[in-house]
Amino acid sequence: MGGRGGGAGGSQFSSAPSTPQLPVIAVPAHEGLSSRCSYDAWKLYLPTQKFSEQGSDMAKKLSAVERYIGEHHPTNEDERQELMDKRCFSVDLKRVAVDQRLLRDWPNIMEEMASDGETTLGVFGVVKHQAVVNLIRREREVEARQSGYDVKSAIDEVKFPVVRARLSSAAEPLMAIKDLKTSFYGRTVSLHGTVVRLSSVKPVCTWLSFECCQCLGVQSVRQPYGKYLEPVICLEKACKSR
Ligand SMILES: [Zn+2]
Repeated sequence: MGGRGGGAGGSQFSSAPSTPQLPVIAVPAHEGLSSRCSYDAWKLYLPTQKFSEQGSDMAKKLSAVERYIGEHHPTNEDERQELMDKRCFSVDLKRVAVDQRLLRDWPNIMEEMASDGETTLGVFGVVKHQAVVNLIRREREVEARQSGYDVKSAIDEVKFPVVRARLSSAAEPLMAIKDLKTSFYGRTVSLHGTVVRLSSVKPVCTWLSFECCQCLGVQSVRQPYGKYLEPVICLEKACKSR
């Protein structure tokens, strides 16, 4: 039997969907997130990336993936419920590899999927998340208008848990398990094998969000190898609490 193809490199985020205390979206207002960031949950998907405006490399990737997701994984009411239950959605790598428009708009997508799957799938995740948030916003707006509630606050209150993009097909060529060495740490590889034993899922925290007691600013901190690591200083420019 085929193993689940395209295992994500490293284990970053792999535990997130099953963790009960999923970070419910609170927008971090610090560096890297301009007030014009059009993605509510940017920092939860791409904590190491800066959001950039029109014309940047990242902006091109985002709009390429937006178009791709709109075409292949349109976000609707049924999917919203499924995302709420499963906290993930599939990205078919074989389909990505042959999508001419996606390859034209993001020429290195396959290389980047291999070398940094976390960021590449983070782009898919943040786009899908925003599509769901926008869907809910449109509904809330209609409801608010009909019932005479304040539209702005109805829209502002919309939150949705983190949903991760998961690869559902393998990248060629497949790797033999014996060739899997530490040099592949952090990379995305595809393996073929037979599952001989299963154990229960053990969640490992790879990122944690912390809220400052002084200014309520939020920051995400990477937890290396699942070790608990607290922030040293508040990142809000005007605060800098310790
Ligand atoms: Zn603070």
